Amino acid sequence: MLFQSTLRLHPLSTGIRYPFMGKEEKIEELLSRCVRCGRCRSVCPTFDLIHREWAVARGRVALVEALGEKRLPPSTRLEDHLSTCLLCMACEEICTNETPVVEIVERARAELAEKSGFPLYKRLLRRVLEDTPLAHRLVNLGILTRPLWGKKVKDYRGIALKIPILKELGLVPPLEKPFSKREPQETGTGTRGTVALFLGCLLDYVYPSIAQATVDILVKLGYRVVIPENQGCCGYPHMAMGDRKGAERLKEKNIQTLETSGASLIVTACATCTAHLKNTYHIPIPVMDIVEVLLEARAQAFRYKLTEKATYHQPCHLGRGQGVKEVIPFLKGLLGEFWVNMEGHDRCCGFGGTMALAYPQISSGIGKEKAHAIAQTGCKVVLTDCPACILQINRSLAREDVKAQALHIVEAVDFRPHSGKNDPKQFI
Ligand code: SF4
Ligand code: SF4
Repeated sequence: MLFQSTLRLHPLSTGIRYPFMGKEEKIEELLSRCVRCGRCRSVCPTFDLIHREWAVARGRVALVEALGEKRLPPSTRLEDHLSTCLLCMACEEICTNETPVVEIVERARAELAEKSGFPLYKRLLRRVLEDTPLAHRLVNLGILTRPLWGKKVKDYRGIALKIPILKELGLVPPLEKPFSKREPQETGTGTRGTVALFLGCLLDYVYPSIAQATVDILVKLGYRVVIPENQGCCGYPHMAMGDRKGAERLKEKNIQTLETSGASLIVTACATCTAHLKNTYHIPIPVMDIVEVLLEARAQAFRYKLTEKATYHQPCHLGRGQGVKEVIPFLKGLLGEFWVNMEGHDRCCGFGGTMALAYPQISSGIGKEKAHAIAQTGCKVVLTDCPACILQINRSLAREDVKAQALHIVEAVDFRPHSGKNDPKQFI
C-alpha cells in the first residue's frame, strides 16, 4: 500500500471499540465542529503531497467519526491515515469552525494504542525517552561506534548512515557528549534573576552546542542559569504517539525538578518543548522560549555573527503552537542586508515526530519542498528555533543537494556589549 509505515511490526487487531466516543461526549462535540467545508485542503502539507481525502483534516476527522459510529472497522490502513498527520496545526489556523484537529487525532491515536498496543519502534522510543541515563549511554555508545555505522558528510550538518537498509532515513545528526553531563550546571551572576534551562531530548543528546549558545546569551543578558538535574523529555513525543500515561509521568517528573530549581523563569530553546510546557504543565513559574527572550530584549541588543545571507523557517510549535509570529521583523532588524524572505516560511518542515521514522516517503516529500524553498532564496543559512526542524531541514537539504545549513537563531547571534558600559539592561 502506498505510504504504509516502513516500521510496522505489529498487526492492528480488528473489532476495536472506541470507548472515548461513548464515555466522553466532548469528542462528539469536537468532531461536530467540522462542517466539511474543505478549507483545510489549501494548507495541509500531507494533502498537498498525497492528494487523497484521508490525508487532510476533513478526511481524518471523518474517519475518526466513522470509527466512533462503527461504520468503519479499525485497520492498519486507518492507523496509517491517522499516523501520517504531522500535527502541524495549519488546518486549525485556517478553520473558521475551530475544529481541534490535533486533539482529535491525538485522542484517536491514544485509543488505538490503548487497545492494540504500540509497534516495536514506538515501544523502544518511549523506553529510551523516559530513561535519561539509558539515552546518555546510547549516545555515548553511538559516539564510540560511529566509524562502524556512519561517516561525516562534507558541507552538511550530519552523518550519513553506512547501513544499506537504513539509508532511506537520510542524514542523522552529529552526536556529541550530552549537555546535561557537562560542567558547570550553574553559571552567571543573576542580576536579572535565575533561569532554569529546560533542555528536552534533542538539545541534550543531539545539539548540545545550541544549549551552550542559549546559556551564553542568557548569561550575557544578566541571568543566572541553572540546569536542573533529573529533567528529561518534555513528554510531547509520548503525547503525539498516543501514550498519555507516559506523557503524564514525564510531566510530573519535570515539574518536580523545575519547581525545586529556585528559578523565577523557565527557558527552553526548543519550540516543541516550550509549547508543551506552556500548554500542559500549568506550573507557577513562567515559561519562555529563548526566541521570546530575544524579542523582549530587541534586535539592537544583539549582533549577527555570520557573514552569510540568511532566511527563516517558522516552527509549527512556535508560530501556531505558541502564537509567536514576530520573529521576521526581529531578524530583519538584526540581519539588515543579510536578510532574505522565504516563501512558505511557516509551512511544516515534514518532521512530524515519529513520522520521519515510520513514513520516510511522506516526511522526505514534504521536506523536499522546504529544501527547494530555501534554495530559491539563495541563502546558505536558514535560521529557526526548533532542534527537530533543524534535524529535518538539514536532512532535506542534503537529500536535495542544496548547499545550505539550518541553524538555531541562538547560534547566529551574539550579545552586543555597549561600548564603555557593558550593561545589558540598557537594551531592554
Ligand atoms: S477541519 Fe475545518 S477547515 Fe477542514 S473541512 Fe472541517 S470545518 Fe472545514
Ligand atoms: S495537522 Fe497538518 S498534516 Fe494534520 S491534517 Fe492538519 S494540516 Fe494536515
